[in-house]
Amino acid sequence: MSLPQTVSRRELVRWLSKIDTRGWVANHDGNVTLLLDDNRLLATPTAFSKAEIRDEDLLVIDKTGKVLAGRHRIFSEINLHLRAFELRPDIRCVLHAHPPTATGFAVAGLEPDPCIIAEAVISLGNRIPLVPYALPGTLASSDVLNDFLVLFDAVILQNHGVLTVGDSIEQAFLRMELVEHIANIHLRATQLGQMRRVPEHDIERLLEKRTKAGLGPLARGQLTAATPQNKRMPHSAASAVPHTPHPTTRTVVGPCGGPRTFPTS
Ligand SMILES: [Zn+2]
Repeated sequence: MSLPQTVSRRELVRWLSKIDTRGWVANHDGNVTLLLDDNRLLATPTAFSKAEIRDEDLLVIDKTGKVLAGRHRIFSEINLHLRAFELRPDIRCVLHAHPPTATGFAVAGLEPDPCIIAEAVISLGNRIPLVPYALPGTLASSDVLNDFLVLFDAVILQNHGVLTVGDSIEQAFLRMELVEHIANIHLRATQLGQMRRVPEHDIERLLEKRTKAGLGPLARGQLTAATPQNKRMPHSAASAVPHTPHPTTRTVVGPCGGPRTFPTS
């Protein structure tokens, strides 16, 4: 397995500080793992503010989560990361945080819709799926990723937060940034009472551009072109996902608390 250049510990610490500065974490929230080689990962320690982690606080762990080097303990959500690496042999980094607007969607049981901004469809695909709730730190909380992470690089964890993956810490960070940005735009459009999505035929064209850019499950060979275009996901996953792909109207809670229905295209 050939791996791109390894990020230095100092560089990772710089990204951790940015995660804190963006307000995506509070207290000891959030964690990052980075693949070092076929068998080892660099990981953030538990019980640290991301702003306070220094180079020497980082841990080296194996692919079962056992600490190989470092003087701190590994975080309890490590199973989530290990499962992500199992599901996605193409990735090198897993980032988990609780950015407030996207996590607000996770609490409301809603998905921020990337199909409201054309470029976001290329970067993230046609959904940022909401993964069903499971108690953080349990095996069930990693099992729920199975149907989603093979298809998407960013997922919303119900009543929890957001998980992004990438081929580098930078890519995982930028995906987290885009998820929060889309969630903010989606929320503001909702407050304005109008939300128009990119036309359906253009979404298909943008998904093709995504594949041509080497992004998404079709480009990775995890799906085939024969997969129904409107789903872009295997049948087993589609049946497990409570999703209405392209509604023509959407009911939201209006600014004064009352329900409001408006067209989305
Ligand atoms: Zn968490």
